[in-house]
Amino acid sequence: MDKNELTRRQLLATASLGTIAAVSPNIPAYANITKKAAKLAILGGEPVRKNKTWPRWPYWDDNVVDSVVKTTKSRIWCRIQSKSGTVPTFEKKFAQMIGAKFCVATGSGTQALHTCVEALGIGAGDEVITSPYTDPGTIASILAARALPVLADLDRESYQLDPEDVERRITENTKAIMPVHMMGQPCNMEAICQIAKKHNLKVIEDACQAHLAEYQGKKPGTIGDLGCFSFQSSKTIACGEGGAIVGNDEELMDKCYTVHNHGTSRRGRTEVAGPKYRMNEFEAAVLLGQLSGVQERFARRNKNAAYLTSRLKDIPGIVPQKLYEGTTSGSFYIYATTYRKEHFNGADRSKFLKVMSAEGVSLSPYIRQGLHKEPWIDHILTQKVYKKMFSEKRLQRYREENQCPNCDKVCQEMAMIWASGPLLGTKEDMANIADAIEKVYENRDKLNSI
Ligand SMILES: *Cc1c(COP(=O)(O)O)cnc(C)c1O
Repeated sequence: MDKNELTRRQLLATASLGTIAAVSPNIPAYANITKKAAKLAILGGEPVRKNKTWPRWPYWDDNVVDSVVKTTKSRIWCRIQSKSGTVPTFEKKFAQMIGAKFCVATGSGTQALHTCVEALGIGAGDEVITSPYTDPGTIASILAARALPVLADLDRESYQLDPEDVERRITENTKAIMPVHMMGQPCNMEAICQIAKKHNLKVIEDACQAHLAEYQGKKPGTIGDLGCFSFQSSKTIACGEGGAIVGNDEELMDKCYTVHNHGTSRRGRTEVAGPKYRMNEFEAAVLLGQLSGVQERFARRNKNAAYLTSRLKDIPGIVPQKLYEGTTSGSFYIYATTYRKEHFNGADRSKFLKVMSAEGVSLSPYIRQGLHKEPWIDHILTQKVYKKMFSEKRLQRYREENQCPNCDKVCQEMAMIWASGPLLGTKEDMANIADAIEKVYENRDKLNSI
């Protein structure tokens, strides 16, 4: 092979399909030329993506800065100082955006979830069924109320709770289901709500990743009894640390306010045991400053996700997250795929991720193991409250049944993109992701020698 030929090949490998087709009709399309696959960057070839950055996250612009400055100068730094401060204003706007009647802002998503558990009167001796494949905050909210988190297995393709396994794990102590909309895409709420209704259970939606997604005409957070959001830095609406509860039942939402306000109601009476979980005015100032462009950013993430999915559908071995029927938009906090190594010459995921990273596209394995495998279980089973409130037989069964084989597989096969910033990129950015995966797929015979 002469030098010119090599240069031409390298050029072709790095250009996008669109560019090649536009330059010359004589040059075969990417898919054809790469039958003799372009050399992997890890082996000295040209990376698909070079010297380019992704849109950064968290997002800010002058609106955000101005809003924080305004709050600083107003000296209204705490929500109880004014009914028209940033926190009450944000609560109204967020409820409206989500399609809920009421909203109570909190200091984090975990605080929002814990407040709901307490407001529903769930505590010691009660059980709440949730997912092992989630942020630790999900179970922390149940443990903070001294209730028992019971972890049900996943659907392997959607990474969401498997409703059938949820139903199998219901006991006489079960009070609620806490479905998690993982990656920001709606879980199977239709089936979960049916089960909840049949067994007279409450539903607290963990929508901490799922702002503004849509399922069967409703937004996650408004489908169950109560819904919770997080505004932690990485989330698609962010203020550092922050959270919110939404709901339509006025009495219950009033109870949430009371619980989150150290047990003190809007009427000024200290009525119940409660933590102090109020959002501060600076956090809400950041959120309000961010709301103006938020719909456009969600639309862009959805458009980019749709394009990426359309490109990936022809690559065996990289399977995008399954979405449930009725999902009309996602939040795309994470763009998630399953890596099936049998289509990549049996190469381990770690090898695939390393080779992808050399191509300039970093994918992450995300959660390394499900919460059912973390040591908190040993910790709580030595605690007096659990030993006293549950029979020995129940705790023994709890331990024995604490297995989620589908979750284990999901943890082994996940290959995802942190999408809050990157999915705000251009179509070319998305093409880079798909091209890199395509290139690695075409070089799959070389993966095992790396
Ligand atoms: C982020 C997150 C939480 C916790 O929210 P914080 O604001 O970090 O407390 C809970 N559940 C899920 C699914 C999350 O992604």
